[in-house]
Parts: sequence; structure tokens; C-alpha cells
Amino acid sequence: MTFDLKGKRALVFGVASEDSIAWAIAQELARHGATVTMGYQKRFLSRVMGLFKDTPWIDGWHECDVTQEDSVQRFFEEAEGTFDMMVHCIAFAPATALQDELIRTTSEDFGTALDVSAYSLVRLCRFAEPKLNDGAGVVCLTYLGADRVVPGYRVMGTAKAALQELTRELAVCMGGRAIRVNAISAGPIRTLAASGVPGFDNILDWMAHSAPLKRNVTQQDVARSALFMLSDLGSGVTGQTLYVDAGYSAVGVPPELDKVRLPGQAAKPIAFGVQ
Ligand code: NAP
Repeated sequence: MTFDLKGKRALVFGVASEDSIAWAIAQELARHGATVTMGYQKRFLSRVMGLFKDTPWIDGWHECDVTQEDSVQRFFEEAEGTFDMMVHCIAFAPATALQDELIRTTSEDFGTALDVSAYSLVRLCRFAEPKLNDGAGVVCLTYLGADRVVPGYRVMGTAKAALQELTRELAVCMGGRAIRVNAISAGPIRTLAASGVPGFDNILDWMAHSAPLKRNVTQQDVARSALFMLSDLGSGVTGQTLYVDAGYSAVGVPPELDKVRLPGQAAKPIAFGVQ
């Protein structure tokens, strides 16, 4: 059992800024001794360069647009050597699809959201597989909107549901070489991607109020769970979705409901428990 990641190498996709979940995961892996090769999107070059250059644990960075077959192929040709971990922190849906009711989603927007946010995991795994060592770990990021309706999340919920099912399929495809594929369903965190979700601030407030831990999660909470799932600590775990959401997904009805007076409700609040 090795928890020390010295000598281990990780591939990380999805750093757009220092607030990115991918950046927190990369830093956590590095804290335990791993080196990291980054895949970045061209339009973020100047921003991520400030993070990547002069960072000793980053052993390379290459452009990679996960929707383009030739871009992913080039990335894996340029990334030298083999790897023990791969992190997929990528999602996108066109603004038109996020801002309008789901019923008006065009098939083009639907296809884009599914391609960038879900199929990209298949494409990355296909090109990565020859370079992943036996026993490697793969982690992707999902959200509660895959399981239940979250206002404003719309087509991204469908994309994340697909991503979670692909996680299970890929766990079977790669299990023969003991490569494990898992998803982390993170609670809401303020990042560039999250800023595109309408009403995101309200979601943050609601989650912090209703979750058992009475707070929102941080990038570091997610990064620590990713460390577990990517390292030998998670050696028996594959095809799973782990909820890192301060417990929100465990709650059906918030415990404070007995203190809430709903519109039209009788003056006396509901009393729960044995009388
Ligand atoms: P982020 O910092 O904005 O990272 C998302 C990354 O995906 C960006 O770098 C984004 O670039 C990139 N991406 C989009 N299309 C791409 C493409 N074609 N090729 C390569 N990269 C592409 O946001 P984040 O919140 O850390 O998101 C990371 C992951 O966590 C996503 O899968 C997200 O759905 C998931 N997640 C986030 C939250 C949250 O509340 N923040 C909660 C649960 C799950 P663009 O900006 O160009 O799209």
C-alpha cells in the first residue's frame, strides 16, 4: 500500500484558473510527491501559464481541446512516459442551453454539452490507456444535477448523468488491467464554470443551509477525496460516484422544516417526533 506518491505521475485536464477544482487536485497530488502533466485549453494559455511556469512539480503542459480527436492525439504524443493517475475536470454547455428552459434545448446545444462534458472522458481514456500503468486511477467530476433536478443546471444534468454511466462502463473496460475509474459528485463551488449556472449564488446559500455539515465544500475537500480515489488507498473502488457535498445528498427534507412557515400554512409550525 503506497500513500506516498513519490515517483507517481498524474495527467490533469481542466485547469482554467487558480480557483479550478483541477488545480486544487493537482496541488494535493503534488503535496504527496506526485508530478503532474497538464492539458490546457488554448484560450486559457496566458492565465494558466502564470500558474504552471516555475512550478517544480509540473513536468509538462500541452494544449488539449478534448472535443478534437487530433488535439487529444497530439497531446498524448507530446506527453512523454507513462502515468499512474488521470483527472478529468471538464464541462461545458452553451449559454443558450443554460439560460432557456430545457424543453427548448436544441439538438446542437445538447450534442455540444454531451460531447464536451461526457464523451470527452471516453476519448481521453481511449488515448490514455496505452500510457496508463496497471493499477492507475482515473477520476472525473460530476454534480447532483445528474440525479435530481437542480434549477438552472438543465442540459448539464443530462450530460453529468451520462458521465456517471460512462464512469461505470469505463471501469469495466479498463478493470482487466486494474485501472480504476471513479467520479466525484462535488457540492457547488465558486469557479469559472459555475458562474455560467443561473442562480448559482442561491444554490450555494441553500446548500450551506441544508447540508448536515452546515457549510459548502471547498476545492480542498474535493481534492482530498480525489487523492484517496486516485491513490492505492482506493485500490478496491471502481465505477463509483462519491458524493463530496457536505452531506447534502443524504438529506431528503431539511431538519429545520419544523421551524419554517410555508405560505398558506397554519400558524402553528409542524411538530415532528413522538408527542
Ligand atoms: P473551471 O475552473 O471553469 O474548469 C472547467 C474546465 O473545463 C475549464 O478549463 C473549461 O474551459 C474546460 N473545458 C471546457 N471545454 C473544454 C474543451 N473542449 N477542452 C478542454 N477543456 C475544456 O470549473 P470547475 O468548477 O473547476 O469545473 C471542473 C469540473 O468540476 C467540471 O466537470 C464541473 O462540471 C465539475 N463540478 C463543478 C462544480 C462547481 O460547483 N464548481 C460542482 C460539481 C462538479 P472553458 O471555460 O473553455 O469551458
